[in-house]
This record gives sequence, structure tokens and C-alpha cells, in this order.
Amino acid sequence: MTTQLHALYTLGYTGAKLNDIQAWLESNNAILVDTRYSPLSRVTTWQGDNLKKVIGSRYIHMRSLGNKNYKKQFGEGIMIVDMEKGASDLLNILKTQPVVLMCACEDYHTCHRTTTADEMAKRYGVKVVHLALSDLKPTPPSKSEQDKFPF
Ligand SMILES: [Zn+2]
Repeated sequence: MTTQLHALYTLGYTGAKLNDIQAWLESNNAILVDTRYSPLSRVTTWQGDNLKKVIGSRYIHMRSLGNKNYKKQFGEGIMIVDMEKGASDLLNILKTQPVVLMCACEDYHTCHRTTTADEMAKRYGVKVVHLALSDLKPTPPSKSEQDKFPF
């Protein structure tokens, strides 16, 4: 494979500020892929309609990457709606831009976004980075450090 793919990030939005997410997306030229089965929330901020309004074309909801077993109505385990379609759609974006797989879950270990991220790493060798909320904060400028230690 000769195409250089961008990194695949994952993020659980619980506890995050939408402004921080938006700023991170802008500075990394990334696309936010909402992997919730339904992009609904009791908190207006995290409703798909609102995310679309605030983030614009950087926001995409992919039902294909939702967990259709999110209510455990089929017993234990994660069941991705359509991994074939989701993986292929993600691959197309990763050819030109980084992607952030978003869900509400704080812990990526038990979230279905990790199932998809692992699959992308296995299939295409995509580099996966699980973002912590602290990663969304911009790194402070190092100017003051340089001023302190002039060479
Ligand atoms: Zn989740």
C-alpha cells in the first residue's frame, strides 16, 4: 500500500467542552465521526442536530458504526451495524484527513468505538490514538521558555 493514511483518533465527549473539540478539529483539520447508534442526548449540546450546526461539515454521523446492541437486547457484546460500509467510508476520509471517532463513553476500553478503531488498525495499519480530555487543550506557547533561556 502506497497511500499514506492519516491517524484515527477516538474521543468520549462526556466531560468535554464542545468549543474545545471544535478548536481541536480545526487545528488538526480533522473530521468528527459520531459513532452513536442514534445521535441523541438529553443534553442539547450533544444532539446530532446541534453538533452539525456548530461543527458544520466537519461533523458526520455514521449509523454504520453504531452499536446495534447498545441496549444489550441481543445479550452481551458489541454488534457494529455495518463494519464493511463503515470501514470503507472511514478509509476514504483517512486518505485525506484525520478522523475522530466519537461516542459518549468515557472509557474507550469498553466502548464500541475501540472495536472499530482496532479493526481499522488490523485491516489497513491505521495509527490509532485514544484522546483524553486533556489532549483537547492547546499546548501553551513555548515563547516564554525561550525568553527565559536565550541562546
Ligand atoms: Zn461508547
